[in-house]
Amino acid sequence: MKRLDSLLPPERVSLFEEDTLCYSFDATGIEERPMAVARPISTDEVSTIMSYAYERDIPIVPRGAGTGMSGGSVPLNNSIVLSFERMNNLIDIDASNLIAVVEPGVINGHFQRDLEALELFYPPDPASMDFCTLGGNVAENAGGPRALKYGVTRDYVLGLEIVMPDGKIALIGTKTQKGVVGYDLTRLVVGSEGTLAAITKIFLRLLPMPRAVITLLAVFDSVDASARAVSKIIASSIIPRTLEFMDRESIKAVEAFKPTGLPTTAEAVLLIEVDGSPKAIKEDTDRIASICIAHKADIQVADEPSARQRLWEARRAISPALYRISPTKINEDIVVPRSKIPEMLAYLRRLSEDLNIRIVNFGHAGDGNIHVNIMTDRENAEEFKRAGDARRKIFEAALKFGGTISGEHGVGITKAPFIPMEMHPASLGMMKAIKRLFDPKGLMNPGKIFEG
Ligand SMILES: Cc1cc2nc3c(=O)[nH]c(=O)nc-3n(C[C@H](O)[C@H](O)[C@H](O)COP(=O)(O)OP(=O)(O)OC[C@H]3O[C@@H](n4cnc5c(N)ncnc54)[C@H](O)[C@@H]3O)c2cc1C
Repeated sequence: MKRLDSLLPPERVSLFEEDTLCYSFDATGIEERPMAVARPISTDEVSTIMSYAYERDIPIVPRGAGTGMSGGSVPLNNSIVLSFERMNNLIDIDASNLIAVVEPGVINGHFQRDLEALELFYPPDPASMDFCTLGGNVAENAGGPRALKYGVTRDYVLGLEIVMPDGKIALIGTKTQKGVVGYDLTRLVVGSEGTLAAITKIFLRLLPMPRAVITLLAVFDSVDASARAVSKIIASSIIPRTLEFMDRESIKAVEAFKPTGLPTTAEAVLLIEVDGSPKAIKEDTDRIASICIAHKADIQVADEPSARQRLWEARRAISPALYRISPTKINEDIVVPRSKIPEMLAYLRRLSEDLNIRIVNFGHAGDGNIHVNIMTDRENAEEFKRAGDARRKIFEAALKFGGTISGEHGVGITKAPFIPMEMHPASLGMMKAIKRLFDPKGLMNPGKIFEG
């Protein structure tokens, strides 16, 4: 039988345990060893590996940087990991048509910086942007703080080159700003978590760089007041580009991990950013500041790039900082209608007290997306069970408030058992039928999104 390591040069195939270890987990810490790892450098190589696996019924797990929060790139079922780390070329930036063409392994933050030099803007900014890939972002339909004003990854993907499970190469979508010919297969593949096809090229819509940006830090002495300020800002018809929330526990965790001068005695802060023309953003900033002051907040304004950078470093440090305060972090990313944020946060406080479990909250309050972190220890069976109970109750509450169980981290392995809580059986049936159509042998990232 032809061997996998005859398909690519030996330095791009790993077969031994010590070489595949780093491909066996993602940010959830769930771990399973793959059969092998392949690191292709072209679409043709991807196609060759996938047709090889298809003929032999071997599962394939596409992998970007492994920063996923739901286990999507964990290689279940003795799979071949298809790592896109070497397909990291920025193929083209077409400034006159505001379109970029990239390979999937390009790191989001590198792309952002290349565009900045050309005064161009790609809004999706997951907090992991310095180390996650654009392919992973497309497969997860990643969001970020700027989603409030600018939307999520799907709003910027015009078209894709994909490789089907049997190795066939297909182009879907368009390379133009508009296009309505046929079904929108691009939207189907965006967010499909590597379960339908491998993404090998991405056509992205760009924007001109906003002319000016101002960042505000609003410091509150009550979580409830901060949540009410969020609703009020949104209701006042101003759409800031970010409206991020951090509770006291997150502030303290960040300051202990990477001190940036956040106020550790505050109960909550909002990190608010507005962009646009200098005159308009000054007016919006003044209105937002007066709403926060009416909710008893103190305001700090950062209009210098270095001051803004410091605040964003603090925000991006929350997730790693939390790992320091307890050994296991169950990170959920529920969404509720924005008007329900005060009620949801009050519910989370009560739940934490009732179950005697530490819950730390932060997130993209402006679009109702709260990162709820249940802090626990997997080794403490009794506490870990309470953490599991808390998780289910949090999902139930999010759905009761008219929300969803995941705003950006996807279903992967961790939320697969909970999908039926949210999905109507008919839509779940349709999704499974689509999966069979793309992947009749069930070889693309099996065990993700759908259990079993
Ligand atoms: C500190 C931290 C902060 C984070 N902040 C955010 C945030 O603000 N917003 C947010 O949305 N997410 C966030 N995440 C989650 C994560 O970074 C995103 O989901 C990101 O999009 C994953 O990219 P990746 O390259 O690491 O993909 P991976 O984790 O490697 O893969 C994720 C999924 O995509 C699939 N996939 C990867 N590449 C391809 C491809 N080329 N073709 C087909 N399928 C593919 C995989 O099979 C898997 O199912 C954060 C994670 C961390 C650790």
